Amino acid sequence: MKIYEKDFPYIKTKTAGVTKKFNLADPAERREYFSAKAGAEIKLIKKYLAANTLVAYFLGKKNSGKGTYSKLMKEIFGEDKFNHISVGDIVRDVHAAMADGPRKAEMLKFLEKNYRGYISIEEAIKALLSRDTKTLLPTEFILALIKMEISKTPKKSLFIDGFPRELDQVSYSLFLSSLIDYRSDLDIFVAISIPEAVLDERMKFRVVCPVCHTPRNLKLFATKEVGYDQEKKEFYLKCDNAECRGARMVAKEGDSLGIETIRNRLELDEKLIEKVFTLHGLPKILLRNSLPVTSAKELVDDYEITPEYVYELGADGRVKTSERSWTMKDDEGVDSYSLLAPPVALSLIKQLAGVIKK
Ligand SMILES: [Zn+2]
Repeated sequence: MKIYEKDFPYIKTKTAGVTKKFNLADPAERREYFSAKAGAEIKLIKKYLAANTLVAYFLGKKNSGKGTYSKLMKEIFGEDKFNHISVGDIVRDVHAAMADGPRKAEMLKFLEKNYRGYISIEEAIKALLSRDTKTLLPTEFILALIKMEISKTPKKSLFIDGFPRELDQVSYSLFLSSLIDYRSDLDIFVAISIPEAVLDERMKFRVVCPVCHTPRNLKLFATKEVGYDQEKKEFYLKCDNAECRGARMVAKEGDSLGIETIRNRLELDEKLIEKVFTLHGLPKILLRNSLPVTSAKELVDDYEITPEYVYELGADGRVKTSERSWTMKDDEGVDSYSLLAPPVALSLIKQLAGVIKK
């Protein structure tokens, strides 16, 4: 077990009296699932959010699900209550704005008023856009960009993803809430603990629709229709979106190499979580993506476990899909299951309610 995990026991999502097998891919059933398993906690958080806001910093490795959990929280508590601030998206937005005269002018005006630092705004933008590693992008500049993004929407609770990103940015995050005028609100760190095996398979089997860009996973998240390529002797997913007419989903170049290509980043992200969890005076939440196979029966329902899809070519030429619980080794080599996103979000709700109650 990692050092920071020891104060966070596995959350039991199996709930006495709740026997229905929910289809977690269906939004209506998902709503029913959350209210059956965490109705009281949701009520408590809603009451809190009616009068207050909170700032949550999401810490987790690439593809650990930060965006997905933010989306689920918006779904449960309302788009008007939560905003997802992704630093990666902000950087892409700066790229787009630089090619658009009026937007560029507006952005520069905001930065002139809000940025203070040792290099000029022009130099900072250049470093940001070229990902020039020689000019270190000042954290003060990232903070000004975050502030700009937040200023676009009326005061909502925030999920910030992508900050802190470097070890020396951790102390800045302690004061960010004051900087964005959220000073009396709750701030909280939410870290995601996820085995590397899960990240690796998510990357290796990831495919995307060339038409609508919907992501899926050949092994862990199949579509309804699956095809078979006679020539290459391989199965492939067909996009579920009717407008895409069964477009063949494709892998991104380099993904088949898996997580070894981002090893340095993974290690830094791990160090960030370790560092944050030694901080005093701030509430912390740990989301566990996996659990040992041996504890599964006691803690979770079968339909909460990520399945593995298996394909078979029938005599009629059609592909038959079946699923089974996917077993992998966690980082300590223990046979484990990976949880689907909704039960992990459920553990976020339960822990958040616990923090609010205090
Ligand atoms: Zn599509």
